[in-house]
Amino acid sequence: MRLRNLTRRREIGANCYLLESGNCRYVLDAGMHPKQVGMDALPNYAAVPYDNVEAVLITHAHHDHIGSLPALQRKLPNTPVYMTEITGEIGAAMLHNSVNVMSSQRLELNISEYPFFTHAEVDEVKRLWNYVNLRRKVELPGDADIDATFFDAGHILGSAGILLREGDKSLFYTGDVCFEPQTLSMAADFPTEGVDVLVMETTRGDQQRPADYSRKAEKERLGKLICDTFDATGSVLIPVFALGKTQEVMLMLHELHTHDLIPEMPLFIGGLSTKVTLLHDQYAEKSRRNYPGFSLLRDINMLVAQRRKKREIQYNTRCIYALSSGMMSENTVSNQFAQTFLENPRNSVAFVGYTDPDSPGARVRKAKPGEKVQLDKHRLPVEVNSRIESFDLSAHATRESLLNYAITLRPKKILLVHGDESAQLWFEAKLKEALPQTEIVRPDPEGWVELW
Ligand SMILES: [Zn+2]
Ligand SMILES: [Zn+2]
Repeated sequence: MRLRNLTRRREIGANCYLLESGNCRYVLDAGMHPKQVGMDALPNYAAVPYDNVEAVLITHAHHDHIGSLPALQRKLPNTPVYMTEITGEIGAAMLHNSVNVMSSQRLELNISEYPFFTHAEVDEVKRLWNYVNLRRKVELPGDADIDATFFDAGHILGSAGILLREGDKSLFYTGDVCFEPQTLSMAADFPTEGVDVLVMETTRGDQQRPADYSRKAEKERLGKLICDTFDATGSVLIPVFALGKTQEVMLMLHELHTHDLIPEMPLFIGGLSTKVTLLHDQYAEKSRRNYPGFSLLRDINMLVAQRRKKREIQYNTRCIYALSSGMMSENTVSNQFAQTFLENPRNSVAFVGYTDPDSPGARVRKAKPGEKVQLDKHRLPVEVNSRIESFDLSAHATRESLLNYAITLRPKKILLVHGDESAQLWFEAKLKEALPQTEIVRPDPEGWVELW
């Protein structure tokens, strides 16, 4: 068996990997690039032989893993797709939202190939999606006699790592993983032995976490910021991604409120976040997670005001606004809301996730008090007078925990993916030192790697 990396650059990008054994081919993930636009946002689908793919397997519903699935499926009209049920249901909502985003980008940026697919196509391709249970072996179609087993990745609801077995050989693809419990997601539940080839994400390879870090202390620090802001009669803006971080933050605020660490305050979420949160609630009983049966929209004691579609969110004092996107990208609710919010010194902004260095969010994060920041290229820069703080509440494994996992697993080969060059180099050096018998590979974009 061999693997071809279909990403176009060495970065997180649009995740997609082609596996080939004899005449049989399988595709792992079908992502879309979070920053690139047009054809550049797609994986290298030209390298996929369209008449002959036995199955597509999807790890989770984030854009960089599922975002181009309908475009791939158009080329593979009869190929079955495998994923967990939650990934399918949340993924469909994300893809429908992506149609809307691409349609407005078509006009605004003049990208004639957008949208890559339509709402009708999303509904159409969904009929080929097969929902699999965690830790249940599925025989994949094709002569190669390959089976797949999905394991909870603890990253977002429904996320999975995928074990593929061919005879006595096996490959495990982590997808995005978190080895520590988050508020809603439980820690990953991955296989700990019997893996020959490990394909591993490296997102946090260049981030060192302080030795005294604890998620609980980080959560309480967020509580403190909220209290201070409440006392100053300001409001708190938490830029979040609609899927994953919104629900984590909601539950975290509920915990803080239950433990009397923050006062009762209206909490606003909106748009896509509301839809995705509703899906989390629909699967509250049926998924592996903390707080089983807990409904975020119904059971949270704080007032959750769901923003009606298209209606602008009104600023009020002593409120919490958990708005997407997490990077405050242009034309998103958090970006628009920040235009007037940031000038008020009574307000606070809490960053709880990754911000790309080129994003408006990163500029706000780095801004000194009183500095002007350009949030939108069509609008005037905004003076940042609000208090700005950052919190490490990542849904990705720390580099140390990933390293420990790889060392425990002791595979014959490790392929490093889903990370920047510097992040991959850290893992390469550490793994070579810890596992001298293991071959460490950083697959070149579009390059082939022999597996067994
Ligand atoms: Zn992810
Ligand atoms: Zn990812």
